[in-house]
Amino acid sequence: MARFESILGTVGNTPVVRINRLAPAGVNLYVKIEAFNPLGSVKDRLALGVIEAAEKSGELKPGQTVIEATSGNTGIGLAMVCAQKGYPLVVTMAEQFSIERRKLMRFLGAKVVLTPAAGRAVAMVTKAVELAKTHGWFLTRQFENEANADMHSRTTAREIVDDFKGDKLDYWVTGYGTGGTLKGVSRVLKKEMPNTKIIVCEPEDASLLTSGVAQERNSDGSAAAPHPAFKPHPMQGWTPDFIPKLTGDVVDMKVIDQIIRIPGPDSLKMSMELAQKEGIFVGITAGASFAGALRVAAEAPKGSTILCMLPDTGERYLSTPLFGNVPADMTPEEIEISRSTPSVQFPAT
Ligand code: PMP
Repeated sequence: MARFESILGTVGNTPVVRINRLAPAGVNLYVKIEAFNPLGSVKDRLALGVIEAAEKSGELKPGQTVIEATSGNTGIGLAMVCAQKGYPLVVTMAEQFSIERRKLMRFLGAKVVLTPAAGRAVAMVTKAVELAKTHGWFLTRQFENEANADMHSRTTAREIVDDFKGDKLDYWVTGYGTGGTLKGVSRVLKKEMPNTKIIVCEPEDASLLTSGVAQERNSDGSAAAPHPAFKPHPMQGWTPDFIPKLTGDVVDMKVIDQIIRIPGPDSLKMSMELAQKEGIFVGITAGASFAGALRVAAEAPKGSTILCMLPDTGERYLSTPLFGNVPADMTPEEIEISRSTPSVQFPAT
């Protein structure tokens, strides 16, 4: 750690941490914890990457309003970057994403325009495109923007290559939301660590890649229609109701070694297991990716080394099913502990 010129200097360089209690014997299982980014998710990287690329190209003018359609983390990252750099930010977001996300963005100074749940991701993107056109705002286009993947090639991928230099990395496990992480990292690994297998996880209920059905696209690469294999799933931030351009590119590059389908309940369970057995506090897609990594670990030859991406912090999910079984009031067990000594009691007996 050093002194930083602004908060933006703290994006990236996230730690790789060994899994001890949850890993099967004989494999080296590591996680890369993106919750260490300043606003708690992998999307801080994209936010900084797309804004700085647009500043450089002249596409984004000083003081111009920035707009994006986002399930939350991108908006939160963009809100941080825009706050620091002085750009107004408008975010369109489908109403079903967690309340914390809306409030966080508003706290950081952004405007949040909700779209109906029934319209899913396609509706929030349509709304963002229309608002950008109408008002002359800069649309970051996270699902198609090459600056998204480029940032991951420059930062996430470099960090991984450096952290495993002189060692081997047999498997790299990730999910996809935009596919920025997947595209940016996989192309560098294929070149510089060609023996590393690329493992992609997706929700069992929305196995868009597994389905093999191609995505209908507009000429700019954006989705022309919802993908037929999509069904709602609890992994907020993963797999929208279309295959993003950046994800489709990776399929076309033929660098994916295996696709694993993760059931929704496994993602919630593994997020909690990471918290309770490893002290690693991360979100739902992290639990989902980790469930995939454990499947890889179960089948990998002894001595294998696996790295799994954990995209965000668990704090973003307090109002979601992730915390559904966590009571606010004392449990019978806690009351029993309380009653085991005579002084202060709650409730008073
Ligand atoms: N997990 C969460 C919680 C996310 O918000 C995102 C991004 N939407 C991802 C995973 C996937 O990252 P990427 O967009 O780079 O594919």
